[in-house]
Amino acid sequence: MPISPQLIEELVTANRILAREGVVDSFGHVSVRHPDRRGHYLLSRARAPECIEAADLMEFAPDGAPVDAAGRTPYAERFIHGAVYGARPDVHAVVHNHSPSVIPFSITRAALAPVMHMCAGIGRGIPTWDSRTRFGDTNLLVTNMETARDLAAALGDRPVALMRGHGCVVAGGSLREVVFNSIYLQLNAELQLKAMALGEITFLSEGEIAAVMRTRSSFTFERAWEFWCRRAGRTYDVRPMEGPLARS
Ligand SMILES: [Zn+2]
Repeated sequence: MPISPQLIEELVTANRILAREGVVDSFGHVSVRHPDRRGHYLLSRARAPECIEAADLMEFAPDGAPVDAAGRTPYAERFIHGAVYGARPDVHAVVHNHSPSVIPFSITRAALAPVMHMCAGIGRGIPTWDSRTRFGDTNLLVTNMETARDLAAALGDRPVALMRGHGCVVAGGSLREVVFNSIYLQLNAELQLKAMALGEITFLSEGEIAAVMRTRSSFTFERAWEFWCRRAGRTYDVRPMEGPLARS
């Protein structure tokens, strides 16, 4: 079955929003799980997210092999996406980014955790994956499945994992959810860095995080998505609350 044009446009929009909100620059990427082919995913060719068009989107097999490259060069770090989809049946979208606000928490012992209600979705106990632990001195890029599976194992069942001296990976049930959590992960990092200069931080408790998540509905993502579409110059496409498109 051909990919729906709505899903293609949704992935283009996700790229543009992440660029507009400063989560990605020339680098970083976002993918969506293929709706029909097990373990496959859709991801742009190697291009800055701000520039991505529908024709840039490619399908990849679980091992990162392009299904039909048609002369297009894939991202060197596409393996991150395949490894997370392989390990997490609940995940339908993945973001990898190098948000500058998040990096300090990947290179120190300061734990990144929710400090504000809108950021509750990033969860507590965010792990930091260090490529050096198992693979020694590398260029820090995740360019094969072995490294990507090690990263996915560090992520476990969480929504976020940091990558030491590199960036982070954000996994979730839909494109709108991973974009939401990527933007609020960045905001949380900025707020936490400011608060650290003032004194001891009071983080959200596990109970508060659970309470926020219980009362969060699809409408939360919709309201944010419409706003971010406007800022990115993209058409807002109202999503059904249930079904395959809701998981896109
Ligand atoms: Zn990277």
